[in-house]
Amino acid sequence: MMRLPRHLALLMLTAAALVHGAASAAPTAPSTDANQAFAEEFGDRFFKAYWPLHPDAAIAVGYYQVADRLPAPDAKLRTAELHFLDAQLARLRSYKPEDLDDAHRTDQALLENELESERWHIDGLRDWQWDPSGYNVADSFALLLNTDYAPLEQRLRTVLKRLAAVPAYYAAAEHDIANPTREHTQLGIEQNQGALDVFGPELEKQIAGSGLSKAERALFKTRIAAARKAMQHYVAWLKTLDGELAQDDKARSFRLGRELYERKFAYDIQSGGTAETLYQRAKLEKERLVSRMDGLADQLWPKYMADAPKPADRFDKIGQLINKMSEQHAPRENFVGTVEQMIPELEQWVTEHKLIDLDPSKPLQIRQTPAYEQGVAIAGIEAPGPYDPTAKTYFNVTPLDSYSPERVESFLREYNKWILPVFIIHEAIPGHYVQLIYANRSPSRIKSIFGNGAMIEGWAVYSERMMLESGYGGNTPEAWLMYSKWNLRSVTNTVLDYSVHVLGMSREDAIQLLTHEAFQSQEEATAKWRRVQLSSVQLTSYFAGYSEIYDFREKLKQEQGTNFDLKRFHEQFLSYGSSPVKLIEQLMQGKAQ
Ligand code: ZN
Ligand code: ZN
Repeated sequence: MMRLPRHLALLMLTAAALVHGAASAAPTAPSTDANQAFAEEFGDRFFKAYWPLHPDAAIAVGYYQVADRLPAPDAKLRTAELHFLDAQLARLRSYKPEDLDDAHRTDQALLENELESERWHIDGLRDWQWDPSGYNVADSFALLLNTDYAPLEQRLRTVLKRLAAVPAYYAAAEHDIANPTREHTQLGIEQNQGALDVFGPELEKQIAGSGLSKAERALFKTRIAAARKAMQHYVAWLKTLDGELAQDDKARSFRLGRELYERKFAYDIQSGGTAETLYQRAKLEKERLVSRMDGLADQLWPKYMADAPKPADRFDKIGQLINKMSEQHAPRENFVGTVEQMIPELEQWVTEHKLIDLDPSKPLQIRQTPAYEQGVAIAGIEAPGPYDPTAKTYFNVTPLDSYSPERVESFLREYNKWILPVFIIHEAIPGHYVQLIYANRSPSRIKSIFGNGAMIEGWAVYSERMMLESGYGGNTPEAWLMYSKWNLRSVTNTVLDYSVHVLGMSREDAIQLLTHEAFQSQEEATAKWRRVQLSSVQLTSYFAGYSEIYDFREKLKQEQGTNFDLKRFHEQFLSYGSSPVKLIEQLMQGKAQ
């Protein structure tokens, strides 16, 4: 998990770049003129044209100039978007990659992929037609009301303008939705019902306590009522639709199917290979992990299980052992303290073992997760949005006081003595936090907004294994067994996503795969089944990025022999920012020759 600029997760899902022959280009000196022209055209000037078409995304990244707009998501808007995309793509392609330096070349590749992907969402994937949960006004309104970016009155006036457009927004949605999936229809019902809360007593209180005029307050009242009515109408309309879909059994399947899946994979992951290749690779990796765990379990069995009979089934055996070992975990009262203590320890390890340079001028600020953000993740990096002037990065840790004893116990067992450090490695050092610091050294608006998710998650997953290989955790069988269980989750996510969307895997088989063969709890497995129905490809990003980075490193090690320097590899790899791994590979190899 990584907290990117709020709600950017959605954008990230569509962000990815096709590598267009960057490596085959002759290594000529980049022209300063081209770089300058590119930076001018595809810096703020591009985004000034881009945000008015995407005000929700703009608000999510902290750009508020267009916040009062809420365009109706209709055919007219889609046509305008297509025109915009075609014009920008033509401009973008007028720059030759070989004329650009690495920073701009990677920006160009990322943006080209993003624009092509947006085009495909409109006229290929057409999720605007079959995903009713894609229509929801609540998030942006909530951000405007809860983010202190301007005085309350100014924000309320923005909200007031935006509110006027809500009825037309939902009318367009009802007009365009055709043969949706039942899963996304039900999600749309649930989420839009919840969205009504944003326009409830809390907002009325904010208005009452503000300096708005009497006329403005009256207008607010009318518009809130009209907005609520439109949302309620949408929910009722979806419920009727869902009833019809249930009856004639003709609803579109939530499964994407091979063709759409491969295409989405190409845009979202931007790896060198296909989804099918990655799936095959993940199956092999799963077997490699399990057979290693099998051996470790035999080794550890007497120590933890004493005379208990050892099951013949390797999954049962490993599962029982992990279950027993999970009793060793941090004390509930001192969870935050335990995490806090790990950060300087990890920093010291990384430095002493010459794994990567950290920036001592930017120590990680640890804090308790603010109350309004609790309930999402137990710990994680919260990075400022690209337009956030405060620009502080925090490591949030949620104290466990507010959870029931059962939930806390199950959580602490999951993040037990061996897994908790791996999780902190992933989120902070040398995972997401360190990657972010390196990315910020060459600031790029394009990369901070359309950065490659597989690279970002892949680096964090890679750093877990790299740390264990360096001896962190003592190189014990316990550490490797638990690490393998943790890593098996990313690997299994890939197998699951492809199996469900392309191969038609049933719910029953999916739950069996997760609980029996990947040692997950029933609760975790059920949540994952829901997620795989509602999303596609994103679950593969962790393993996709990780396996590419790991393979690339091993290849370089082979080629360079004793000249290979791990620290240099890490620093050079991260110096390209959140670019697709494949593209980084090409650029790094161009340098080496
Ligand atoms: Zn992550
Ligand atoms: Zn316990």
